[in-house]
Amino acid sequence: MRKATVFQIIIVSSVLISVLLTLLLFIVQYLTEAEFIEESLLFLFFFSAFIISAIIIYFFVYGVFNEKLKVIYRIIYNTKNPYKNLNKNEIAIDAFKKTFKEVSEWSSENKKAFERLKYLEEFRREFVGNIAHELKTPVFTVQGYLLTLLDGGLEDSEINRKFLERAYKGVDRMTKIIEDLDVINQIESEKINLNTTKFDIVDLAKEVMDELEILSKEKNISLVFDKAPSSKILVKADRRRISQVLLNLISNSLHYGKENGFTKIRFYDIDNQVLVEVADNGPGIDEKHLPRLFERFYRVDKSRARNEGGTGLGLAIVKHIVEAHGQSVKVRSTLEVGSTFSFTLPRA
Ligand code: ADP
Repeated sequence: MRKATVFQIIIVSSVLISVLLTLLLFIVQYLTEAEFIEESLLFLFFFSAFIISAIIIYFFVYGVFNEKLKVIYRIIYNTKNPYKNLNKNEIAIDAFKKTFKEVSEWSSENKKAFERLKYLEEFRREFVGNIAHELKTPVFTVQGYLLTLLDGGLEDSEINRKFLERAYKGVDRMTKIIEDLDVINQIESEKINLNTTKFDIVDLAKEVMDELEILSKEKNISLVFDKAPSSKILVKADRRRISQVLLNLISNSLHYGKENGFTKIRFYDIDNQVLVEVADNGPGIDEKHLPRLFERFYRVDKSRARNEGGTGLGLAIVKHIVEAHGQSVKVRSTLEVGSTFSFTLPRA
C-alpha cells in the first residue's frame, strides 16, 4: 500500500477543514441574511482558512504528536539519537505503525531479558544453596573433631592423631571445592587467557594415565589406549587445561567404574578436528540424568559421588574448558554397559 506523506495529509485535511468552514459561513450568512463576507471574497476566506489549518495541523503533527513519539523512542532506545529511525516525511499513521512495531519488538526483547533474569536468579539461588550444602558437611566434620580434641582429646594418644587426620581430610575437601569453584569462576569471568600451544594429545593422555596409575591399580581397572596411536596427534589448545579435562574424565571413569573393568582412551580424526574419547564399562548413567550431567554439583548417585571424594564440579569444569576452546563435549551412556565421554580439539 502506498504511504501517505505528511504533506499529502496536511493538504487533504486542510482542504476539508476550509471547505467545512466556508460552507458553515455560507449557511450562517444564508440563514441570518447577514453578509459577514462578500460572496466574491468567499474564495479568499476559503484560501485563508486553508493556509491557517495547514499551519496548525503542521505544528500539531510535528510539535505535539511527533514529540510524543520521540519520547517513546527515547524510552525504547535510550540512545542519543532515538529519532533517527523515524523519517520526518512519514505521516503519523506510518509513524504509528512503525512505533507499534518497535514497541512490540522492544517488549518481546524485554520479556526475554526478564525471563533470563528470572532464570539467573533461580540459578544463583540454587548455586548458593548448593555451595552451602557442599561445605556444610566438611565444616561440621572439622568442627566436631577439633572440639573433641580441645575437650581433652588432644591428650588422649589413642585418638588425637586419628581425629587430627580426619579434621585435615575435611579441610582438604573444602579446599578441593573452593579450588574447583575458582577454576569455574575464572573461566566464566573470562579471566583465563588460554595459553594455546601445539602439542601431542597422545603424549598428554599418557602423562595423565601415568598420574592415575595408582588409582586404577587400587580399583583393578585397566587403563589403556583402545588402539595405541602409532604417531603423534598434534592439537592446538591450552595443554594444562586439557590435562585437567583428561584428568577429570579419566578419574571419573576410575571412581565410578566397576572393579576389574576397563577405561579406554581413543582418538578419531574428523576433518580438522580430533575427537578424544574416554570410555568405561562401569555402571553407566540413566538417560534421564544425561541432560543435566554437566551442571555444577549435579550428581547421579549423591552418596556414592561424595564417598568417592567428588566435588560435583568435575564435569562442569570439563565443559567450561572445552567450550572456552570453542569445542564441544558429549556423553553417551547405557545402564549396565558403560559410559563414553568425548570432546573435540582443533588439529594443529
Ligand atoms: P563428581 O565430583 O561428583 O565426580 P562430576 O561433575 O565429575 O562430579 O560428575 C558428576 C556425576 O556424574 C558424578 O557424581 C557421577 O554420578 C556421574 N559420573 C561422572 N562420570 C561417570 C562415569 N564415568 N560413570 C558413571 N557415572 C559418572
